[in-house]
Amino acid sequence: MLNLSVVLEDGARSVPEKDCLVFGDLRLNYAITNMIANQVANLLVARGIRPGDRIALASPNVPYFPFVYYGALKAGAVVVPLNVLLTPREIAYHLEDSGAKAIFAFTGTAELPLGERAFEAFNQVDTCEIYIDLPASPGATESAIEGAETLWKALEGRPGDFETVQANSDDTAVIIYTSGTTGRPKGAELSHNNLMMNSIVSCSLVNPHPDGRDVALVVLPLFHIFGQTVMLNAALYRHATLVLMPRFDGDEALRLMEKEGVTGFAGVPTMYWGLLNAVRSSGEGKYDLKAIAENLVDAVSGGAALPAQLAQDFVDTFGVGIKEGYGLSETSPAASFNNPAVKAKTGSIGRPLWGVEMKLIDHEWNEIVKEGDEDPVGEIAIRGHLVMKGYHNRPEANAEVLKDGWFRTGDIARRDDEGFYFIIDRSKDMIIRGGYNVYPREIEEVLMTHEAVSLAAVVGVPHDTHGEEIKAFVIPLEGVEITAEELVEWSRARLAAYKYPREIEFRESLPMTSTGKILKRELRG
Ligand code: AMP
Repeated sequence: MLNLSVVLEDGARSVPEKDCLVFGDLRLNYAITNMIANQVANLLVARGIRPGDRIALASPNVPYFPFVYYGALKAGAVVVPLNVLLTPREIAYHLEDSGAKAIFAFTGTAELPLGERAFEAFNQVDTCEIYIDLPASPGATESAIEGAETLWKALEGRPGDFETVQANSDDTAVIIYTSGTTGRPKGAELSHNNLMMNSIVSCSLVNPHPDGRDVALVVLPLFHIFGQTVMLNAALYRHATLVLMPRFDGDEALRLMEKEGVTGFAGVPTMYWGLLNAVRSSGEGKYDLKAIAENLVDAVSGGAALPAQLAQDFVDTFGVGIKEGYGLSETSPAASFNNPAVKAKTGSIGRPLWGVEMKLIDHEWNEIVKEGDEDPVGEIAIRGHLVMKGYHNRPEANAEVLKDGWFRTGDIARRDDEGFYFIIDRSKDMIIRGGYNVYPREIEEVLMTHEAVSLAAVVGVPHDTHGEEIKAFVIPLEGVEITAEELVEWSRARLAAYKYPREIEFRESLPMTSTGKILKRELRG
């Protein structure tokens, strides 16, 4: 029997007075955070929610997220976290697909009117019976949304203790809708055991600060699995202090790192890129970079390939090597780590974590093993405590991706003799130019080694004779002059003739998912 909410309950028992959540001027200790989650659990039970019922949660990284997340888990319910950028139509789809009985949504701001969108969706879905508004001003009992009830009103008089419903460890705790860079979102069902195990394994990799402080900058969205496991469940399990940041901004991140003495940061590569850009443009003396670097002992990247140059620039600036992790929503997420504290190889996602099996397969699930001198290359398949139970109500999709406990990832990789995996690309991103397979990542790496290039994304665009042609979108470094011809030349000198980009388009920004992945689908046009 197990309930993932134990990560918070344990902190409330062992370090009740310790800061658990920091958000602006608000500081909430472990005891209070747990008490509010208990009140949420009492509210849910009083409103007829039963173990196994789904509860949707639409919230950025503000204290409401952990209150509702753990409150719902304590009541034995299944949490369905929603991306905060979804439209009403999309929210309605998620509510229907997951069969959510209740939705808790942050009112939001003028910039991000999340509550309005969520309420509109709620009114379209009959099966969703309860709407709770998470108001922008803490404690507000009147909602800015007409007809909605605020959390604080709903919590009035609710007891602050609750007997957690113990689940079977294989019961679903969370349904994570996958990022949707391809196809229609599907809900990956992750069990209490999946998430607990992955949190414990992630914790075991953290570099501790010599003075024992553990302060995490939580800017990865908690509705995404990377933030949820690494920066929420694992961080609470270690009794860390979570500094919540609802939206990434390089300057704000540096300010908070300095103010709160942040010891751990986890982000997608574009966030590392944003941090370095903020350092570059901040000028002398704006931040105490020395103090920031001294505090920061743990840096994790994941979610997308970390360009080697970016990793190097980060070590040069902050003095800490980035651990690159690899995983997916379907694997809770962490499957492998390239850990400089143990042994790391440039450009690798490292070796499988403890309790994780990884192999390379072909289309028919046959294992690809080394033959001759060449390293084996194939699609990564994963088995172990981290693999989801399956997609919610999707027997066909499950039959495609799950077999004998193995999950096929759609990621193509090479494995070397020491068992290190190197992602070549996502199978879906592969470009076929004149019959040759071209993996964009290799070209992006070459472009990013050019000193004038800040970020590059390569896609295939339709071409009459070659089928597809290679096109690069490039964000140049501010204030640096560079032409498309120069970059084509730069790539031609370093890549085989069928690989170098023929077309370069300069952009000021690139379309990204809210989790910081470049939306190649949009670039393909
Ligand atoms: P998501 O389910 O949104 O977490 O996306 C998972 C996908 O992100 C994987 O299938 C990979 O394509 C990609 N990904 C995650 N980590 C890495 C990494 N370290 N290097 C390259 N791609 C990654």
